[in-house]
Amino acid sequence: MKNTGNEIFNSLKELLGQKHQKMLLVTHENPDGDAIGSAIGLGEILRNFGHEVIIVVPNDYPAFLQWFSSDLEILIYERKKNQVKSLLKETDVLICLDFNEPKRAAKMEKKLLEFSKPKVLIDHHPNPSGFCDYSISETEFSSTAELVFEVVKKIGLKDYINYNAAEALFTGIMTDTGSFSHNISRPGPFSVVSSLMEWGIDTDKIHAAIYHNFSENRMKLLGHCLGQKMEVFPEFRSAIIWISQKELEDYDFQPGDTEGFVNYPLSINNIVFSALFIEKKDHVKASFRSKGNFPVNEFSRDHFSGGGHRNAAGGESKLSLEESVEKFKQLLKQYEHQLKETII
Ligand code: 5GP
Ligand code: MN
Repeated sequence: MKNTGNEIFNSLKELLGQKHQKMLLVTHENPDGDAIGSAIGLGEILRNFGHEVIIVVPNDYPAFLQWFSSDLEILIYERKKNQVKSLLKETDVLICLDFNEPKRAAKMEKKLLEFSKPKVLIDHHPNPSGFCDYSISETEFSSTAELVFEVVKKIGLKDYINYNAAEALFTGIMTDTGSFSHNISRPGPFSVVSSLMEWGIDTDKIHAAIYHNFSENRMKLLGHCLGQKMEVFPEFRSAIIWISQKELEDYDFQPGDTEGFVNYPLSINNIVFSALFIEKKDHVKASFRSKGNFPVNEFSRDHFSGGGHRNAAGGESKLSLEESVEKFKQLLKQYEHQLKETII
């Protein structure tokens, strides 16, 4: 691990080594497969070792992430505010997974900042804000789940990995790498997956549970988006899809239904930058993806109050949907040179 000195692992070993503590694991808003996978994976290992573990996610998460073998409790803060508030009072250690700035915990942001006992961070995004006492922040890692595996090994808890943890950690790695198609620059993810296979996980089954589990409406919404809503700008090697509240309602939108839509335009020959804008109640949610060296995290940070990884980032806009799309189109002109020069 490039960014983390060895002394932190000794401190973490000491912090987590005393059994029967109350651990609260938190992920970012709109948790994805890596957030849920690393929380369940680490949660199972810590519980197996002898801690009490509860997972809290800021808001609801999609049905395709609700099939795990683990029976660990996952509380949704938005729905269980009072319960989480009293749990936080009894919590000994708070562990933040798959995000590195309190803002990403959305409505839980204040609760995280107020928490006065030890806070641990395990994450793989760039530019950590440094709000935790113990930070393991490694951008070289494909996923937080891959990093959790290495951290667990380093602090001597590998023997506490079980089937449920292996299944969840594999899911995190698989989803954050788009089934091993990106975010991989070292042998690490494959070697971790190879180790996880020793627990007898069924990778075919996990893949199907995530990717072959959509509703008919979701597939039809995707068809509508690709057929009617995708606009391609070959001169900027870019494309955009935008979806209104009305369209979401027409297709009986459920959380997670638009997951992955932003990736489709990147399959078009010579397209290196893709955006997806979704109208929410009081803002527009933006997702950006790129190929090669076009940094969508910087683009999102500079224009849409967001961030993320070089090739996958998110952000938001307070303008209307139409104005947000217009702003994006105008911005493309500014990036024409950089987009043309993007090396894939
Ligand atoms: P998605 O487009 O799937 O929501 O997010 C893609 C990536 O960008 C994820 O790694 C996610 O953690 C990050 N991301 C999404 N939205 C935001 C945001 O508003 N701020 C920051 N800093 N990162 C975001
Ligand atoms: Mn991740």
